Amino acid sequence: MTERYDLHCHSNASDGALSPTDLVQRAHLNGVTALALTDHDTTMGLNEARSCAAELNMRLIDGIELSASWQNKCLHIVGLGIDPNYEPLANATQQLQATRLERAQKIAEKLEKKRIMGAFEAVQKAAGQGMITRSHFANFLLSQFHVSTQQEAFDRYLGKGKPAYVATTWADMEIAVKWITEAGGVAVLAHPLRYDLTANWMKRLLAAFKDAGGQGMEVVTGRNNPDEIKLLATYAARFQLTGSTGSDFHSPVTPWVELGRLAPLPDNVQPVWELLN
Ligand code: AMP
Ligand code: MN
Ligand code: MN
Ligand code: MN
Repeated sequence: MTERYDLHCHSNASDGALSPTDLVQRAHLNGVTALALTDHDTTMGLNEARSCAAELNMRLIDGIELSASWQNKCLHIVGLGIDPNYEPLANATQQLQATRLERAQKIAEKLEKKRIMGAFEAVQKAAGQGMITRSHFANFLLSQFHVSTQQEAFDRYLGKGKPAYVATTWADMEIAVKWITEAGGVAVLAHPLRYDLTANWMKRLLAAFKDAGGQGMEVVTGRNNPDEIKLLATYAARFQLTGSTGSDFHSPVTPWVELGRLAPLPDNVQPVWELLN
């Protein structure tokens, strides 16, 4: 059987709209046969996703999307095939939950200065036991009619340099890669084109990522066009990184990004799933 892979998506354990069960079922309906759940900085959704996948005879790859710092930039690193119980990684996610809670308090205080009240309580309620993200704030601002789209929430309040932006120190990229690889996983640079890097910076990043033990990069995502995929494939080949394919699905309300709806991986790229067993 040929597998159909989607190796990047979110449940309501972080900023996804669907429970792990609903997410796995939706992926199944869309023809995905191997799904990695990669919530932001948490593995909390994996148990539920795994049991649902087992019932559907689907392959569930234990994943995470770690926030990391490199050269003053925030990067996202996807870990695939990790052991979520590996202690340094489990400790890191605990710490990240505390970091995110503190950050949420600070974001809410900044919003209060703009006379927007009640954000902290609202995002805490929406996130439940899961990770609080800026997406939760964007949804709150949307629900209170302060903005009319998620994008506007980032452009006016939550994005870098905006009134409710809180700079956060994430683990260094090298350390995040180490947590993943020592947990038995493959570290994959997520959506490389979303960091607004010049070609020179991109090359520096890919070299540093490879040096740190990174083994893959996303080549096909839910948003990339054919030219971008070609460019990413060239980078992957040049830096001897395997290529991953993942939708980065968050919610059914953005139908232009859908689980399993992905272009094929170009054949000059070694698929990351050859490293997963
Ligand atoms: P955080 O990790 O808490 O900083 O939240 C980042 C999340 O917010 C990302 O994973 C995206 O899902 C979402 N996000 C970031 N920037 C934007 C944007 N410009 N528009 C909509 N969503 C965004
Ligand atoms: Mn997200
Ligand atoms: Mn990301
Ligand atoms: Mn993501």
